[in-house]
Amino acid sequence: MKEEIIFPRKEWFLETSFPGVRRCKADAFRIQKEIYKGRSKFQDIYIFESPGFGKMLALDGIIQLSQADEFIYHEVISHIPLLSHPHPKHLLVIGGGDGGVLREAAKHPLKEIYFVDIDKQVVEVAKKYLSFISQGVFADKRVKVFFTDGKKLVRGHKNFFDVIVVDSTDPVGPGKVLFQLDFYRLVFDALKKDGIAIFQLGPFLDFDLIVKPTCRKLKELFTYVNPVRLPMPSYSCGSEYCFVMVSKKINPQAIPEKEIARRLRLRLTDKEKSLRYYTPSMHQASMAMPKLWQLAK
Ligand code: SAM
Repeated sequence: MKEEIIFPRKEWFLETSFPGVRRCKADAFRIQKEIYKGRSKFQDIYIFESPGFGKMLALDGIIQLSQADEFIYHEVISHIPLLSHPHPKHLLVIGGGDGGVLREAAKHPLKEIYFVDIDKQVVEVAKKYLSFISQGVFADKRVKVFFTDGKKLVRGHKNFFDVIVVDSTDPVGPGKVLFQLDFYRLVFDALKKDGIAIFQLGPFLDFDLIVKPTCRKLKELFTYVNPVRLPMPSYSCGSEYCFVMVSKKINPQAIPEKEIARRLRLRLTDKEKSLRYYTPSMHQASMAMPKLWQLAK
């Protein structure tokens, strides 16, 4: 009989998850090597190496990223809103302490990139142990770094940003405030009249619990609200993951693929070769929802 290999618990990282459908299932990742284990003022920070996914970052027991698929997440959450905007110059990144969004966004000819994460320790630990993600982008002269609550920073800006990317943790702990209507109102006010924002949201597994109610809140403020879907194999949520992109004036689904491809060529030039997931055709396709995830008109 095939010998069953049950690894002792200590060799496994069993992902917790915040209240939601996901509580009914959890993922376990084999720990090949522990790299960093600590607690900041805000959250537990854990970095380990797994044979299947490479280096992994978990905050408060929830997987944030893996070396194997972080590029999917960061290319989608950065290039789709930036290339949907006709001439982005001022970008705000809230969260994203690992530097992945900054790395992708810095490939665009932006004038200024404001970056705010509540937890300086995440940035420092990620720079040290996960440098393949930020690849030195924090030294980019356009990047202005702030360590405070993203809600506080966005409150201080009105009609200023062309694009805002909210790459937060889940709606628990410090990330909770970034899923509330009053924060969405502040984002609305901080955006220019043709502004676009994108929010990391959660798994489609939690469509009824998170995606639908969040989109309903956003529809009170924004003309266009588009869920964006992407595969995230390292997330314990059945891999289909959801961001939501909102816009005051520009209908992202009405931009022809040819125009997206033109902007991509013009803006990224030779840096386009560095993309491993994003293409103009998947840009449009990522907003096409199957019936069960379509929002009521
Ligand atoms: N980019 C990663 C990925 O690929 O999934 C995950 C997101 S990143 C690690 C989440 C970041 O949000 C963390 O660095 C955390 O410190 C930050 N964060 C949580 N709450 C925040 C808040 N209220 N304001 C600013 N940053 C916050």
